[in-house]
Amino acid sequence: MSKQQVIAVDGPSGSGKSTISKIVAKNLDIIYIDTGSMFRSLGLYFLNTDIDFSKDELSSQDHSLMDKMMSDLKFEYGVDENILVRVNGEDWTKKIREHHVSKLASDISKHGVIREYLKKMQRDIVTSRWAILDGRDIGTVIFPEAALKIYLTASAEVRGQRRYDELISKGESVELADIVADIKSRDYQDMNREIAPLKQADDAVLVDSSELTIEQVVDSIMNEYKKVR
Ligand code: C5P
Repeated sequence: MSKQQVIAVDGPSGSGKSTISKIVAKNLDIIYIDTGSMFRSLGLYFLNTDIDFSKDELSSQDHSLMDKMMSDLKFEYGVDENILVRVNGEDWTKKIREHHVSKLASDISKHGVIREYLKKMQRDIVTSRWAILDGRDIGTVIFPEAALKIYLTASAEVRGQRRYDELISKGESVELADIVADIKSRDYQDMNREIAPLKQADDAVLVDSSELTIEQVVDSIMNEYKKVR
């Protein structure tokens, strides 16, 4: 299998994937794709339906409604400087970052229809240029032939603290203990789902950012990139 010009960055919530990937993309002048924002958008798109996506199995009525809504969906993802998601013409870039959307994204991401739709979209965006994608299954499922795979992690406490600081700075009112508990439950759900669970690819480089600065993590990825480019 020939290698694809892709840097795949996978790992659990709050490990710093998007912060790091954005900087690496800028340094290398390559495309950055935040795949979590796609799952967030679809989680929000289905919010006001009666479908309970936290269930592993959906009913046939749920499936028909889902198919209908997916065929009505116009989902646009921009790879410009500011990540932009547009759902049926509306800019949702900001609202998908609200805390409650994390759980909607994690619930909906268990379902095959959604994963297949986004898999195609993610593969189609990457063409002839180098790209860095962050997510949960980029190195294992979306681009198993990626030239470089990074598995970025950190302890749940460190990740919780980071997410807490980020939400507080945006003016959301949250408790640290709740955020750490949410992170742990999302880890569990993401690692234990049947389709495309979060796991380190055999050929991924493990980076634990618990004790590292952003610059140190970026440097380690840049060094790995130099070996494969
Ligand atoms: O990365 P972020 O926290 O924005 O992702 C939100 C949720 O979307 C994750 O908890 C995960 O369930 C799901 N996701 C996924 N596969 C990806 C990216 C995100 O299942 N490639």
